Amino acid sequence: MRHLSLLTLLLLPACSPERSLPQGPAQRVIVISCDTLRADRLGCYGYPLPTSPTLDALARESTLYRSAWTTAPWTAPAMAALMTGRTPDELGVHGGNRFALAPEALTLAEEARDAGFATAAVVSNWVLRQPPAGMGSSGLSQGFDVYDDEMKQREGNREAFERHADATSDAAIRWLDSSAARDGRFFLWVHYQDPHGPYTPPAEFAQRFKREDTLRVELPTGKTQSGKGQIPAYQVVGGERSLESYRARYDAEVAWFDHQLARLFTCLREKNWWEDTLLVFTADHGESLGENGWFFCHGENLQRETVQVPLIIRFPGRSSRMMDVPVSHLDLWPTIREALGLESAARETADPSSPARRGLSLFTPELPLQRPLPLQLGTPGTARRHVGMVDGDWIFTVFPDGRTEYTPLRELGQPQLPELQAKLRQAQQPDGGPRLPVLPLVGDGRSRQALQNLGYTEGEDH
Ligand SMILES: [Zn+2]
Repeated sequence: MRHLSLLTLLLLPACSPERSLPQGPAQRVIVISCDTLRADRLGCYGYPLPTSPTLDALARESTLYRSAWTTAPWTAPAMAALMTGRTPDELGVHGGNRFALAPEALTLAEEARDAGFATAAVVSNWVLRQPPAGMGSSGLSQGFDVYDDEMKQREGNREAFERHADATSDAAIRWLDSSAARDGRFFLWVHYQDPHGPYTPPAEFAQRFKREDTLRVELPTGKTQSGKGQIPAYQVVGGERSLESYRARYDAEVAWFDHQLARLFTCLREKNWWEDTLLVFTADHGESLGENGWFFCHGENLQRETVQVPLIIRFPGRSSRMMDVPVSHLDLWPTIREALGLESAARETADPSSPARRGLSLFTPELPLQRPLPLQLGTPGTARRHVGMVDGDWIFTVFPDGRTEYTPLRELGQPQLPELQAKLRQAQQPDGGPRLPVLPLVGDGRSRQALQNLGYTEGEDH
């Protein structure tokens, strides 16, 4: 399968850099994030199974980044970093999903709203919800005129609520039909939840990806939420223990999400908004599906399968191409600001105490090939803490006990460790801006239980 993927990628047409960039602000900017979606499970990234016809078609008219990386393998830290251009450490949201983004943070939604864009979000992962006043918040709702976090669907074997892809597309389309969207420029964020475990796709999709399981690798079912050597408790579906059956279910979840995403795209085309919308598609993080003994989990390590993400951007007026330069979610902040027409305004009123953003606008014609990008997991000084960096060649990780690990991303000889250490320091260098206060989420008992059932509090470090 690995060889097939590589071959598929090699057969795709190579694209030369394009110098002519679209001028002027976009009318509409839409960020679509899908939870727990691995790039390598999509056809446009070389996967041989038909999981992603909608995204494959999008990729054929977009820029596809083959080396795109989150900052953290957790939903809330990853999305907070994406929406602010700062790392989870700088934002005080390093410890999993149990910290709120502080009100002092400056988010894309706030900036877009202040520049006269209508702003809306449709989120479908429980940890992104806006709880009632006094109970804490993910903090990501700041700046959104509409923050639709209605989650009524309950997964079969846990207490958590979520919203499935059909209802997520329904809600996004409802907002696109509203006068707020119709009457002017807008910034919309839609977060789909479906590939997040437990993998329970609709039967029709599950059937489609069922495959022969000749090896029949059986895994122990866990009593805890850890995926090390076992199926995490919240992932166990119907007592099933076969590795391949979970992988097939995961593929089916991806296909179900992709199928529903098509409805949102059709809506944009019907409104004649497709051509002049900047559309950014990515995932918050990936998922381990058996690599190195980790099963159906994320947030426990900084391995490639949990920190590499798909990134497909449809730039209005730009033809399709593929990019191999390493890029980070942190690059989306300057990219979207540029699309919103905010970059030049910011330069004129630059505050010397404002953070030096480390991200680069993806409108930049020549991006550096060897830029170290930061990876973080867990609160500094705790047993869960990992830090890392990724560049075009390596993922380099420092474990909580100080051990290091390097993983080549292409065929390479031995790494120069001092060089990797220097790049790690560079990637983890604070941006000089104020560190934001660490605000633990305040939850009622039900909230805490639901978080635990999502697999988000086991072994947490505070
Ligand atoms: Zn997530």
